[in-house]
Amino acid sequence: MKNILEAPFLREMCEATSNMYRLVWDERNGGNISYMLDEAEVAQYLDLKNVLREIPTGFEAKPLAGRIFLVTGTGKYFKNVQNDPETNLGIIRIKEDGSTAQLLWGYKDGGKFTSELPAHMMSHMARLKQDPQNRVIMHSHPTYTLAMTYVHELSDKAFTHSLWEMCTECIVVFPDGIGVLPWMLCGTNEIGAATAKKMEEFRLVVWSMHGIYGAGKTMDEAFGLIETVERRRRYTCSPRTCRARTRSPMKRWCSLPNTSA
Ligand SMILES: [Zn+2]
Repeated sequence: MKNILEAPFLREMCEATSNMYRLVWDERNGGNISYMLDEAEVAQYLDLKNVLREIPTGFEAKPLAGRIFLVTGTGKYFKNVQNDPETNLGIIRIKEDGSTAQLLWGYKDGGKFTSELPAHMMSHMARLKQDPQNRVIMHSHPTYTLAMTYVHELSDKAFTHSLWEMCTECIVVFPDGIGVLPWMLCGTNEIGAATAKKMEEFRLVVWSMHGIYGAGKTMDEAFGLIETVERRRRYTCSPRTCRARTRSPMKRWCSLPNTSA
């Protein structure tokens, strides 16, 4: 059996979480990632018959039964993943009942998967229907994207078009556009279902006053989608532009130190 700490999928997860923390997208325990793994590849590192624990998920995801995911842990900080992946990450397999996660590795301190697992698993189901190659769902709180949700019209069309108009690269990178949800309570099945509904059409879904979800075939693709939106939003959020658009929350934000673009 190979050393799982050297597995490419684990290295990718460590690199992604470290990068996102350094970009100041994921403060404290903010952000979460789920990565659907290839069973044959995981079998090179783990005995797939050895289930460490069974954890109820609180929702039904039968289409994912038997699928294996590497998932960030609840309450865990992205900044700590690289130094201690076995505590901050877990590898789970969805049981035949669709509502139980079998822990195969990780969450060493007795922890469990992110509280946003419903949004992740429901989004995986939605994206796999559109693209059987989809593997990654990524959630983050990128600064400028989040700030824009306080001042921008919150509709799929308006949010998408203002990005497309800024830079033709955006049309190339996400021709499917961006879905936008209104403020909803996070960590619930309701926001999970609403996110998945948007994921039927879009690989990017903004959670107003909270953050963004990205989906992709690879970690790079999901990360790159969010990175492209955030970079363009950063230009839009220059203090001058923001003042022109200002409503009160953005006015306060623009007056903070270190926010000049
Ligand atoms: Zn969040």
